[in-house]
Amino acid sequence: MSEDAVRTEFELIQWIRARASAQGRTVVGIGDDCAVLDTGPDRKLLVTTDMLMDGRHFHLDRDGAEAVGYKALAVNLSDIAAMAGNPTAAVVSVALPRARAVEVAQGLHEGIRPLANRFNVALVGGDTNAWDGPLVISVTVLGETMSARPPVLRSGARLGDVIFVTGPLGGSLLGRHLHPVPRIAEAIAMHSEVEIHALIDISDGIASDLGHILEESGRIGAVLDADALPIHPDARTMSAYDGRPALEHALNDGEDFELCAVIDPTDADRVSRLFPFCHRIGTITDAPGLWSRASDGALSPIRAEGFDHLCSGER
Ligand code: ADP
Ligand code: MG
Repeated sequence: MSEDAVRTEFELIQWIRARASAQGRTVVGIGDDCAVLDTGPDRKLLVTTDMLMDGRHFHLDRDGAEAVGYKALAVNLSDIAAMAGNPTAAVVSVALPRARAVEVAQGLHEGIRPLANRFNVALVGGDTNAWDGPLVISVTVLGETMSARPPVLRSGARLGDVIFVTGPLGGSLLGRHLHPVPRIAEAIAMHSEVEIHALIDISDGIASDLGHILEESGRIGAVLDADALPIHPDARTMSAYDGRPALEHALNDGEDFELCAVIDPTDADRVSRLFPFCHRIGTITDAPGLWSRASDGALSPIRAEGFDHLCSGER
């Protein structure tokens, strides 16, 4: 890809990915929910980082620092969940608005601490800066894989696999995006019970994020049963505001932070039975692309409209 062909966030990451060099301990580098490093025979180290900016991912004046701190850690924990990993430690770096730096920093910590405690994550470091710009917070989380199972990548989906989602989707912008509960326990429980083939957390909308699984798994597509997709009440509320169908909100709104799991068809009934929060929503097929199947069986293409930092304006 030449430099001037880079237009989207995805293309930029692919551009960097093609040039970044993996080192000896790199099991998975750029391109999944976490990097995976080899630290020993039976466990792997997971690393993930996400940066949140005032005016883009939150509005400090409206949401308050505590909610921002919570969200900044939660989105990282969600990426650990997306590997079926267990989080262990976090570092937090902030660029604070100078006029009320201490108050904001303490507020952030009030949001971070209870969530870290809840998931037994140690806050082990960070970096503090103040400037005349808006609040920026970057959190990095380390985690580990379960000893008996490898981390679940985006790349393991196979033809005939069944697609699940861990909860209802859409309309998170009405407020849910600020306090997602990372699906750590759910992912570990599922992955202990069955071998999950592919996993991703839904940060950009399931149409985009399932698209990443298809892209990484290669030469496959997915059919979603339009009637089976769990639609969050918030998606219906937003639909009433803006006239867009609730299903479109469920497919394309970001920041649900549910997990999309791809599982062997022979395990699908067991997953449904053991994990009532798991909704069976579709199948991996050999026709490339993402398709929606209506109740009469008719297929129509789903266009992924998920958020792209390099193409989209203010939301
Ligand atoms: P997620 O939505 O799960 O947080 P992203 O879309 O942010 O994932 O990132 C996709 C992949 O690209 C991840 O492996 C991430 O670490 C990597 N990545 C993103 N930005 C950069 C960058 N500037 N340099 C190197 N790797 C990056
Ligand atoms: Mg992710």
